[in-house]
Amino acid sequence: MSAIIAITNQKGGVGKTTTAVNLSSYLAGFGYKVLLIDFDPQGNATSGLGVEEIEEGKDLFDMFFGRVTLQQIVRPTVVPLLSVAPSSRDLVGVEIELGKTPGRELILKSQIQLLHEEYDFILIDCPPSSGLLSLNAMGAAGQVMIPMQAEYYALEGLSALLETISFVQETFNPELSILGVFVTMYDGRTNLSKQVLDEVTEHFGELTFKTLIPRTVRLSECPSHGLPISMYEPEGVGAKGYESLAKEVVVRVLGDHASESHASESHASESGSLGSSLSGRQVANR
Ligand code: ATP
Ligand code: MG
Repeated sequence: MSAIIAITNQKGGVGKTTTAVNLSSYLAGFGYKVLLIDFDPQGNATSGLGVEEIEEGKDLFDMFFGRVTLQQIVRPTVVPLLSVAPSSRDLVGVEIELGKTPGRELILKSQIQLLHEEYDFILIDCPPSSGLLSLNAMGAAGQVMIPMQAEYYALEGLSALLETISFVQETFNPELSILGVFVTMYDGRTNLSKQVLDEVTEHFGELTFKTLIPRTVRLSECPSHGLPISMYEPEGVGAKGYESLAKEVVVRVLGDHASESHASESHASESGSLGSSLSGRQVANR
């Protein structure tokens, strides 16, 4: 069974896509087979992993209309073991075009059911809205991860997000839970960052990940090179942040079974391009 995680926050620009790209890269670096579903119409997760020139008619928009299956659009990325289901600018219009089609919130779920056995982790990068794409992501996911930007009004819109999660739980996905909340663009030199961390911890308690993702220009540069931070600057603080978050995710998802992880030694050695990567077994033992 794969772990299906939606990275969501209705607030824009908080680090959802940066997290989707870099967390999935580290999970793959640990030796897990990972699929990233790019639900953000800007397609930054797709291009940020070196996937360009999407063939006409072979993206997530077409999947919504049954013209292709999810399996048919999956593409390899620059990271071994990491594949991406590419976005499309047309995704913006999916809600209007689908109208009131019954079961429209569960289209992604039904497509994931056809391929989930091929992956250990499936991550979904959500757009900054609570519209049909985010509902599809939450309808398919077992868990959500919520990035919170260490900026003024970080918690703004949070109650709307939590209401959306409750709505999904009560209507079409009672299994959905929150895997965790984490602070992005953290700058330890500012009081503001510390205040946001305190507020998040107060609100979410144990659900708050210990990892703080630092603010670093390197994380904002690497998408323009089509590389995740694990390949762009593997020894930098941004890389260390996402590596640490990925380790926490493995432990939270696999729990006591982490030491018997799906990640085989052969997978881990294939992904040698990520210098600091670890096998799932090593991760769990850290
Ligand atoms: P949207 O809601 O528009 O989809 P998002 O939540 O996906 O946005 P990102 O695109 O990941 O957010 O990040 C917003 C901007 O902040 C981008 O320019 C990104 O490069 C930058 N950024 C993200 N994380 C960091 C970080 N830790 N340090 C510095 N810059 C960052
Ligand atoms: Mg985004």
